[in-house]
Parts: sequence; structure tokens; C-alpha cells
Amino acid sequence: MNGRGAQSVVIIGGGPVGLVAALALKRAGFNVTVLEKATELHAEPRASTFHAPTLELLDRLGLTARLLDEGRPAPQWQYQIAETGERVVFDYGVIADLTPYPFRLQCEQFRLVRAAGEALEREAPGTVRFGAEASSITQDADGVTVHFRQTDRLETLRSDWAIAADGASSMVRTALGIGFEGETYPAVSFTVGISYPFDTALKTLVGVNYFWSDHGPFSMFHTKSMWRVGWSPPPGATDEETLSDDVVQAKLAKIHPAGAPYQLHLARVYRVHKRVADTFDLGRIFLTGDAAHLNSPSGGFGLNGGVHDAFELATALTSVADGGPRDLLARYTRRRRSAAIEDVHATSDANYKRHREKDPAKRRELLRELQAIAADPDRHRAFLLDNSLINSWRRSSALP
Ligand SMILES: Cc1cc2nc3c(=O)[nH]c(=O)nc-3n(C[C@H](O)[C@H](O)[C@H](O)COP(=O)(O)OP(=O)(O)OC[C@H]3O[C@@H](n4cnc5c(N)ncnc54)[C@H](O)[C@@H]3O)c2cc1C
Repeated sequence: MNGRGAQSVVIIGGGPVGLVAALALKRAGFNVTVLEKATELHAEPRASTFHAPTLELLDRLGLTARLLDEGRPAPQWQYQIAETGERVVFDYGVIADLTPYPFRLQCEQFRLVRAAGEALEREAPGTVRFGAEASSITQDADGVTVHFRQTDRLETLRSDWAIAADGASSMVRTALGIGFEGETYPAVSFTVGISYPFDTALKTLVGVNYFWSDHGPFSMFHTKSMWRVGWSPPPGATDEETLSDDVVQAKLAKIHPAGAPYQLHLARVYRVHKRVADTFDLGRIFLTGDAAHLNSPSGGFGLNGGVHDAFELATALTSVADGGPRDLLARYTRRRRSAAIEDVHATSDANYKRHREKDPAKRRELLRELQAIAADPDRHRAFLLDNSLINSWRRSSALP
């Protein structure tokens, strides 16, 4: 190895995970290029939850203060039966001795994209090549070759390492023939953004709310700028039906009749999968974020797991560039693939199924179980350590 300064990394995809990996590696001294097919930083809200370990990691890059400023901490979250008001409230105060961030930060994903993208542009202008779509990738013993198209020209980039941060439909994962086993959940997810004072109208709301209801489960998250209300449309509904203003307003009126149509700032449908790539490292190429794993949004783990990948991989590459053993790269897969399956999939799947329980008697039973957890300080703490991914980061970081 030549040492970090002489080593180059190409990152395919300038979403949140690619940009965080780029900033971490640039600061570690690597020569980094990000290829991003969009022509500017993404402004899509998408994920809105940052958990404690993610905020601690992002603080190492100086990004957390801005997210705290632009987001809204939710020190509590709850499950509630909408019709009766019976509920259970989880309170991050019980883990306040373990993290400087005892809350879920509700903050749109594009704010991290902006913070990381702007830091890169300040410190290393031109690192992100916008409008550059990678079309193929190959490797040999000495490096990686990526072909990409930018302003109608086909270009070639040669580098020591490559990171796929190119999202769920990853070109890199497909080109390498890496399997992506798993399942697609039958229900799609639908989210609307509304700036209505729900917290004044519905007195028992906290920052993050999961409701069971006779008209179907729904969730309500409070970011700094709006409420994000989510639900799953009935099976078989087309995207057009789901997005129709009449259908959306009727559902919102059941949640809270405001007396006038709600003004929507955002409405998105997306498919929900539970998948994991067979490996996250192949020679000199690594998969991260949605390119490596997908999960249900229940619990807000997708983006967080991806950011954890970026830090684990940046640390491993840095050690290898400094002369450490190549096995650290395989360890990246061992740690992060395990976190995706044993922590993120396990917890998000349990959350997803619990929230979608249709039988009112079973729902009440689930509520009683959760209330028993919340009433026992040790179990309450353990539950929040799982649901904040603190246990995940600790456990996976200790794997050999
Ligand atoms: C509509 C929607 C809503 C979501 N809402 C939630 C939510 O509420 N909660 C939650 O936890 N998660 C949510 N997610 C998931 C969450 O957004 C992802 O986990 C997160 O974006 C993963 O980040 P990433 O950087 O790995 O991938 P992405 O954010 O998908 O970024 C991939 C980047 O790669 C670029 N790219 C792709 N192919 C190429 C190529 N060939 N060449 C160059 N560039 C390329 C793309 O333009 C993009 O910028 C949502 C996802 C979607 C699609």
C-alpha cells in the first residue's frame, strides 16, 4: 500500500451515505471522487429519523450541530390506540446516561445531504461530479475501472477502491452479480407532509407516534418544519388512487377533522423491502447503504444503518491504507451485514408486524406487553437500546 494520500476512492452515488463516506475518507487523506447522476444535491425529504449513535458518528465530521439546529428532537415516542386513547410512551430519559443525544432527531434526510455536500465542496471543490452516471465497473488486482457518462461524454475513471452508494437499484451490485435476497412487503408506504398544528389539536401527541386504528395503522412524526403523516394504502390500490387528493383528505379527516382540506407539502409512495446483499465487499469494491440492505421504515433505521456502514468502511479502508491487514475489509462485511440482519431487520420487522396487527384483541395484548416493558426500568432501557440502534452499533463494532 502507498499510504492514504496516494490512494484514490471512487464513490458511486452522492446520496446521504455516499457523501458521508466521501467526507470521512477525504478528511482521512484519501483522494476521493463522487459520481452522482443527479445534477445537484438531492432535495427529497425521504427518511426523517436520526438515532443517537448516528448523531454521535456524524458529530465526528462536525455535521451534528447543524442537524440539531434544523431538526426537532423527540425525547419520547408512543404507540396509541386511536379510538380509545390507550397508549404506551417510551422515554429516552432512561438512556440519558449513555448518549449525549437521548432522543430521536426528526430531521429530513436532505438536510444531511446538504450539510455533507456543502462541507465537501468547501474543503475539496469538485469532489462531487454531478450529472455523472456510472454505467459499468470492473476490477483487477491493482484497481477499479468505472465508466460513466457526463454531459453526453463517456469517461473512464481508474481508482484504488470503489464504494457503491448508488441506492436500492444499485448498478454496481448488479454488475458484480451480488445476490440481494429477501422479500418485498405486501403493503406500500405512503407519507404526506403537512404544516398543521396537530400537537395543539391532539393533546396526547408526542414527537413520534404510531397509532393503531380501525381505519388502518398510521404514524405521525414532527419535524421542525411539518408533521409527516404516514400510512399504508389498501392492498391493490394504484399509486394514482393512493395519491388522489380525495383519498388523502378523507384519510386525514379520519385522523383529525380539521374542518377544511389540509394543505400538503409532500406526498410520496414507496415500496418496502427486506433484503440484504450476499456480501458487502468484493475485492476492491464495497457496498453501502441501500445498495447493501433494505428494510421496512418502521423505527427509522434505513438511513441510520447506511451512515453506520460509511463510518465502519472509512475506518477499515484507512487502517488498510496505513498498512493494516486486508481482513479488515472482510470484517466490514461481517460487522455491517450482521447489523443489517440481526439488528435492523429483526427490529424493523417486529415493529412493522406489531404496527400492522389488525385484530383488536391482539393489538390490546401487544399494547399490554409494551406497557409492561415501559413499566420495568431495565426492560424499558433494553427496548430503547435496541430501537435506537445503540445496541446494534456496539454489538457489530465488537465483532472480530
Ligand atoms: C420515497 C422514499 C421515501 C423514504 N422514506 C423513508 C422514511 O420515511 N424513513 C426511512 O427510514 N427511510 C426512508 N426511505 C429510505 C431512505 O431514504 C434510504 O435508506 C436512504 O436514502 C439510503 O441512502 P443511500 O445514500 O444509501 O441511497 P440513496 O439515498 O438512494 O442515494 C443513492 C444515490 O446514488 C445516485 N445514483 C444511483 N445510481 C447511480 C449511478 N449509476 N451513477 C451515479 N449516481 C447514481 C442517486 O441519484 C442517489 O443520489 C425512503 C426512500 C424512498 C425512496
